[in-house]
Amino acid sequence: MTLPENAIEARGLVKVYPATKTTPEMRALKGVDLAVPRGSIFGLLGPNGAGKSTFINILSGMTRKTAGTVSIWGRDIDHRPRDARAAIGVVPQEIAADVFFTPRESLDVQAGLYGVPKAERRTDELLAAMGLADKADAYVRQLSGGMKRRLMVAKAMVHNPPVLVLDEPTAGVDVELRRQLWAYVEQLNHLGVTVVLTTHYLEEAEALCDTIAIVNRGEVVACESTRDLLRRLDRRAVVVTPETPLAAPPDLTPFEAKLRGNGDLVVTFKPRDAGVEQVLNAVRAAGVQIKDLRTEDPDLEDVFVSLTSGEPLGV
Ligand code: ADP
Repeated sequence: MTLPENAIEARGLVKVYPATKTTPEMRALKGVDLAVPRGSIFGLLGPNGAGKSTFINILSGMTRKTAGTVSIWGRDIDHRPRDARAAIGVVPQEIAADVFFTPRESLDVQAGLYGVPKAERRTDELLAAMGLADKADAYVRQLSGGMKRRLMVAKAMVHNPPVLVLDEPTAGVDVELRRQLWAYVEQLNHLGVTVVLTTHYLEEAEALCDTIAIVNRGEVVACESTRDLLRRLDRRAVVVTPETPLAAPPDLTPFEAKLRGNGDLVVTFKPRDAGVEQVLNAVRAAGVQIKDLRTEDPDLEDVFVSLTSGEPLGV
């Protein structure tokens, strides 16, 4: 069997949530074209409400698309829904623990749901891979939050899918556990699993993913290798609190200056081209007295907006 070039392919994908009595119609995906290369760790990055979960839910069969085509591992979700679903494991955002089961039972039940024959189940192997071997027969309610997360990854893998999707895997998870989860994801990827993860943390996508797609308001605004994307996003901001309030942002060409509601002056620059000192010199040269200052990473929302509008980033 020849393997598909792309683990997931979406073309012209549209999702419209119909209006209700209290909410207007919502176009959550506005014609998304996306290809997830086989073997990659692919990040779907975007602010809340961008459409990430909607995309994942369409893949997992939980939400019906309005228009467009999607194939998973070369299997069209309309024409071969069962085969498509067999190719994907989804780790949901919420921890849904079956408190009355042990991890071993929980995996067995899940394997049963997927029709995996007993002889082909890899329960012990999965438990060991997720560091849960010594908890195999404990009640799930006795597991720590981190162990429950790992059990969810194991559950998503019971039918040995070539594609694993993690929806916001580290939302509300502490730093230690985040690193552990990243390590598991990398391990699975080394074993040949294509991984898709959604996140609204650039840092997470940067640490794990080789390819990143940025979605904003239902549209893909960038999709490229992490290295290329970071090069484009490479900018920082100096935030200056002026001694006396400014009526308007000064012209700091070649830097971009904006005033915040609280009177702070935000100056963005590309670290590749200039340093903080040069920015401050420009601020002083414009006659601004500096009371306080700090540097900030760019606001992702700003980045999305400038990617969407096609403006060049920063200076
Ligand atoms: P993300 O996962 O990126 O935060 P979502 O896919 O959850 O984004 O949401 C995209 C948009 O669709 C949001 O505006 C959200 O309010 C809306 N939406 C999501 N689910 C539903 C639903 N079941 N019914 C109506 N609107 C929804």
